[in-house]
Order: sequence, then structure tokens, then C-alpha cells
Amino acid sequence: MTELTETLELKLVNPNTHKHRKLCETKHAYQQALEAAFNADCTTQTAANDVVVNYDLSGYAKNALKQYVPQLCGGSYDAKELKDDHPVRFTNEGPKLDHKPQNAIEWYVKIPHHDDYHLWIPAQINPEQREWLEALYVGDAKMGECRLFDRDGEWYFHIVATRDVEERETSPAETPIGVDIGEASLVTVCHRNERGTPTTPNLWNDEGKRVRQLRETYFTATRRLQKRGSERIAESYGDELWRQIDHLLHTVTSEVVAYADQFENPVLVLEDLTHIRENMDYGAFMNRRLHGWGFAKMHAQIRYKAAEKGIRVETVNPAYTSKTCHCCGETGYRPKQATFKCSNSACWVSKYQADVNAALNIADRYLGRESHSREHTSGDDSAEEGGRLTVPQDTQADAESQQLTLGAYAS
Ligand SMILES: [Zn+2]
Repeated sequence: MTELTETLELKLVNPNTHKHRKLCETKHAYQQALEAAFNADCTTQTAANDVVVNYDLSGYAKNALKQYVPQLCGGSYDAKELKDDHPVRFTNEGPKLDHKPQNAIEWYVKIPHHDDYHLWIPAQINPEQREWLEALYVGDAKMGECRLFDRDGEWYFHIVATRDVEERETSPAETPIGVDIGEASLVTVCHRNERGTPTTPNLWNDEGKRVRQLRETYFTATRRLQKRGSERIAESYGDELWRQIDHLLHTVTSEVVAYADQFENPVLVLEDLTHIRENMDYGAFMNRRLHGWGFAKMHAQIRYKAAEKGIRVETVNPAYTSKTCHCCGETGYRPKQATFKCSNSACWVSKYQADVNAALNIADRYLGRESHSREHTSGDDSAEEGGRLTVPQDTQADAESQQLTLGAYAS
């Protein structure tokens, strides 16, 4: 096990006048307490405590000062440097994270102000640190010291976070596992065995259906509640539904990583998110954002959970992964959501489970094997046992619920 540490940067989004004033008060009181404790030459926590106890600060900021000041006083710290801006430090018990994907700004941070008064402020995250926030939010990463500061008129909050990752011996024989994240099946994984045969596909169909139902409920129920003027109830009901979705996504992403863990030197291959966003074609902004949210969230969860087990994650360009035949490389189409049909009459694949087909294309793309392609049509592929991969198709009812979901989003 290796411990990774990262400083997560959150930019606080437009604190209103009241919150801005509170943040300034905290910063001011902290700076005063810091200077007073430093000037009193507090070389022990007890001595620092006697000074900082008198300031109007939260216990988390005072505790951070008790640890920080003796370090300063013990060293060769120049008193002049105290005039510089110091970030307000908090011990890790005070600040908290919250996540509300249904809101335009998804993340919230709780910043302690006085002893029993704190501020919840929406925050923008660095998208590259999303896996850390996902891990932190469910307790798979640990929060360390936090720091509040302002820079060029903006407020920032830094969280020092740690998590454990495993290092694995790598061997030349990799098992690339294609991961297709979709709507009907929430996730589909498949890989080829050493003979190139598609093997042990796994689909999370029920979970896909459940997430769609929950989102549908969210949109219809909250709209109804809002019409009746019950904003509060709508909000807490919405939070609860999204918590359930979040829980489901965590269950599925853990299972995806456990699936990969069975194989020798696995590499999880995902579609590149930036391309996915460009290719998305949904009506309303809300719908598009929340759809993309599912991808981003599952990507981030898979990444950190894979790292915990020392499993590599790679991304590939997703162009045409769902429209190409994994066997002959010909372009096909989807007569139904769950069915891929190859348009090459010479190819043995006539109908194939669409998500498994996409997962195989994703895995192949990682190896640069675009070429399971036309030239090979009459070769080894004819021996594939892929015909047996057919899994239960989405029922008509399911297709209707899909329509409904889209309808609910679009309005
Ligand atoms: Zn084909």
C-alpha cells in the first residue's frame, strides 16, 4: 500500500454579502490570534491555547493554531512574515463536503465560523480532482488540514486529502476490459480472452432501469411539489433521491472494479469524457448536464477504486464505438436500444447485444486493434462464441420508460 496525498482546491462561488462578511471576520480574527500567540512566543500547545481561546473563532481554527504556532515559534520564523496573508487553518473535524448533483453548482463545503455557527458555501472543483472528491465524500479518502484564503477577490478552500493505493506488478500480458457507460445498461464490461474471443460480458441492466426511474421520479415529483409551493419538501425529497442514485452508482462502480480484479493484469478502458460531451445530443441543458454528470461521476469512482487495487485505467476516443461491428469493423445500426445489427452480409454477426459490442470496441481501441476489421472477416473471428453472448433484450416496457425519461427531461 502507498499513501497518496493531494491538496484539493475548491473555489467558493459568489458568497453573498452576509457570507463574505463572515469569511472576512474569520480571517481577521485568525490573523489577530496568530499574531498574538506568536508575539507571546507560545512554544507549547498549552501556551498557545491560553492566547487563542480569547478570540472569536471556531474550535477547529483554534486547534489548528495550537498546532501551528509552536512550530513557528520553535523555528527561525521572522515576525515580519506574519504581516503576510496567512490562510485560516482548520483541523479536519470541522469542515464537511456535500454533493447535490441536481444543482448547477454540485459541491458544497461547510466552513466553521464561530463555535456553533458555520457556513455552507457552493464551490467549484478542479474537474481533474473529481475522483478525490468522490472518494472523500464517501469516506474512501481521508480529510486532513483545511485552509481558507482569498486571492484576487476570490475565496478558496484547500483540503489536504490522503488515500491508499496498491501497487501491482505489471506483466506484458494485459487484459484490456472495455467499459461502456450507457443508459439502458448502466455499465457494460467485456474483454477478449487470450484467443481473442469475447468473454464473460457483464451488464448492469437493472441498475440502469432503477437510475432512470429515480431520475424520472425526481423530475416529476419535485415539479409537482414546487407547483404547490413546497420548495423545502421538494429540496429534501430531491436530495434523498439523488443520495439513492449516488449509492447505486457506488455499488456498480465497486462491482466493475471487482470484475476487473479477477483477471491477470487488467486495464479498465473507458471512453474519453471530453469526446462524450461533444457527442451528446439531448434537448434541455438540465438533462444534458445530468446525463453527463452520471458519466463523470462513474468515471471518477472507477478511477479511484481501481487505483485502490492497483488497476490501471486508460481512456480512448469513443467515436463510433457503438456504431461499429466489433467483429468485422463495418458500420452497423441499432434497430432497438439493446441490439446492434451489422450491415455486412458476409459477417457472421447479424445481431449482437449493442452494449457488449460497444464495450468490445472500446477494449480493442486501447490495443490499437481497430483492425478487428474488415480484412479479418473470414479469419479467426468466425470461431467466436459471441453468438452466445446474447443477453435479455430491453423489453418494450423498458423502451417506453426510456422515452418517458427523455420526455421528462426535455420539458
Ligand atoms: Zn460485422
